[in-house]
Amino acid sequence: MRILVVEDEKKIASFIERGLTEQHYIVDVAYDGNEGLYLAEINPYDLVVLDIMLPGKNGFAVCQELRRQKNDVPILMLTARDDVRDKIFGLDSGADDYLTKPFAFGEFLARIRVLLRRQRTSQSTTLKVADLELDQLTHEVTRDGKKIELTSTEYSLLEYLMIHAGQVVTRTMISEHVWDQDFDSYSNVINVYVNYVRKKVEAGFSSKLIHSVRGRGYMIKDEN
Ligand code: CA
Repeated sequence: MRILVVEDEKKIASFIERGLTEQHYIVDVAYDGNEGLYLAEINPYDLVVLDIMLPGKNGFAVCQELRRQKNDVPILMLTARDDVRDKIFGLDSGADDYLTKPFAFGEFLARIRVLLRRQRTSQSTTLKVADLELDQLTHEVTRDGKKIELTSTEYSLLEYLMIHAGQVVTRTMISEHVWDQDFDSYSNVINVYVNYVRKKVEAGFSSKLIHSVRGRGYMIKDEN
């Protein structure tokens, strides 16, 4: 899941980036409103964390512009002021949720999970395909109860496939949601990582879960 963080205070931005990366999210950071708006326009983010007081364009303006463009990416607004008028204006600008700085990182993460879950039909934090389970809270992955160790990128890739279980996930979708802004989409990296994940998830088990769909991409599904 790929998140854009728009925050001009470098310390806060890097604190958020580090914390989200530790939770296996893919993070891009913009340090002013114009850059944030530009990145949100060209990349299909799963969520945007948007500070209000920003140089260039403030958070309200960025949010309004994205909604005007019919971009319905979930937006979590941040503000330094605990002002109810800011909160109302933020929500009326099209933000989905609102958090006052300083915030507890645990609450920040929980709100992000809620917004990301809203996009899905299931509200569960455990994703399941056949006997494969991925817990989005603990990041634990098991198959038939047996723990599978994944790197951060492998986890993000598997999570993305499992969120779209039964659907074809194209290489473009993977490059846009599992890798950040610096990713070279012409490289062979996606195939390599799909094979890593496949090996870990399927080794020692009789049924295949991750299928290649010729010319289109990949699909994770229960064969039975
Ligand atoms: Ca700010």
